[in-house]
Amino acid sequence: MTERLHIIGGGMAGSEAAWQAAEAGIPVTIHEMRPQVETFAHRTGNLAEMVCSNSFRSDDSEQNAVGLLHWEMRQAGGLIMQMADKHRLPAGGALAVDRDPFSEDVTAALRAHPLVEVVDGEISELPSEGHWIIATGPLTSGALAEAIRAETGADSLAFFDAIAPIVYAESIDMDVAWMQSRYDKGETEEEQKAYLNCPMTKDQYEAFIDALLAAEKTEFHEGETAGYFDGCLPIEVMAERGRETLRHGPMKPVGLTNAHKPDEKAWAVVQLRRDNKLGTLYNIVGFQTKMKYGAQTEVFKMIPGLENASFARLGGIHRNTFINSPTLLDGQMRLKSRPNIRFAGQITGVEGYVESAAMGLLAGRLAVAEIKGQPLPPVPAETAMGALVTHITGGAEAKTFQPMNVNFGLFPPLDGVRGGRRGRKDRYKGYTDRAKELWTGWLEGAR
Ligand SMILES: Cc1cc2nc3c(=O)[nH]c(=O)nc-3n(C[C@H](O)[C@H](O)[C@H](O)COP(=O)(O)OP(=O)(O)OC[C@H]3O[C@@H](n4cnc5c(N)ncnc54)[C@H](O)[C@@H]3O)c2cc1C
Repeated sequence: MTERLHIIGGGMAGSEAAWQAAEAGIPVTIHEMRPQVETFAHRTGNLAEMVCSNSFRSDDSEQNAVGLLHWEMRQAGGLIMQMADKHRLPAGGALAVDRDPFSEDVTAALRAHPLVEVVDGEISELPSEGHWIIATGPLTSGALAEAIRAETGADSLAFFDAIAPIVYAESIDMDVAWMQSRYDKGETEEEQKAYLNCPMTKDQYEAFIDALLAAEKTEFHEGETAGYFDGCLPIEVMAERGRETLRHGPMKPVGLTNAHKPDEKAWAVVQLRRDNKLGTLYNIVGFQTKMKYGAQTEVFKMIPGLENASFARLGGIHRNTFINSPTLLDGQMRLKSRPNIRFAGQITGVEGYVESAAMGLLAGRLAVAEIKGQPLPPVPAETAMGALVTHITGGAEAKTFQPMNVNFGLFPPLDGVRGGRRGRKDRYKGYTDRAKELWTGWLEGAR
């Protein structure tokens, strides 16, 4: 008899994983705790409920990494994309979705599938046998989170994200910024130059603090804040505590010498740290924030060297249960310490409906391959799917790992050159053409 795949959580990732497995002939059980156990964000007992915005973001598969991910999931017969397309609402180049009929149809399609059963109820222990995928999302129930924490260790499971903005390295003005670790710390030259530094004069600092204090902020959702102030103070809250607080905190100018103007002492310094092994992305250290996105770009572009910065993602702080995937998962998305369990969706440290569904699609296919004893070739890192899974399972810096949206900064450079002579449009088209060809080939090889 064919072995059964069990999936905990019938959200974006769990629903897609179940569909992929069932369509490949593997019987699936989805264990979903709603409606018996509620979360503060979900409203229904439907599978794949969209908890907040109704947008799948850009649908442009030539110029946008999330649009490319849409395309890749459509090519792979993804249920989430099929139903999103069916319930598409007018929204310019974005894919907006009529949320209730969308999740009702995902639920109906799965419940009607002869190989899928949906079992209501919370799972609170880690399963020791069989094939399992944990796709319990940012609001994983407390009991299961505790079981995961007991297995992985306290430092490997977070209950909040504290996302500092991430900048494309190529958009930083290196005539202003310079590379240096504080006090040149480190054994190797690479470590001594691990940080990118942006200097501020006193006037620039004062103007920056004014802008931070005046910027529009987002509010937490009701029920979201419990336990939040543990070491992830938003930068604007630090500024509210006193105009000098940041200058004595993340923006302290000590131990640094401006390589362009060695005789000038900076009043404050903003530091950026490498965010991925490719060295294409840098996060602004200590700059987690609840400022609105529009305000963030305005305020952060006041930082000398970042005037023309292009952001791979903006900052945020949310209730978000996620594991330290780069240390805990193998390349097959399996928990190294218990390889019968895979993780998928937002709990792996991707962010957003689309990315979560994508990681469900991949985990579902990997589980099928394992059950059938037909291993899949690795997903090319040049595809959106491959870039994302490569990032979470090893490409990201484990020590500072925070949830990530798909973006072109995760892709290996074209022709081995980051930036290069191509214009942005041409470059993005180069990424997406390359990805489409490789994804088509991978899907054919995986048949
Ligand atoms: C308040 C809030 C607002 C958000 N807004 C947006 C947004 O606007 N846009 C966006 O793209 N993303 C948003 N997100 C992130 C979004 O939730 C995810 O991107 C996406 O839903 C994650 O998919 P998932 O399948 O990993 O988790 P989910 O879709 O949350 O699915 C997980 C499922 O697991 C179930 N579950 C949890 N624990 C257990 C258990 N122990 N046993 C059984 N079942 C369990 C849950 O009930 C849920 O159905 C938001 C998240 C939150 C918390």
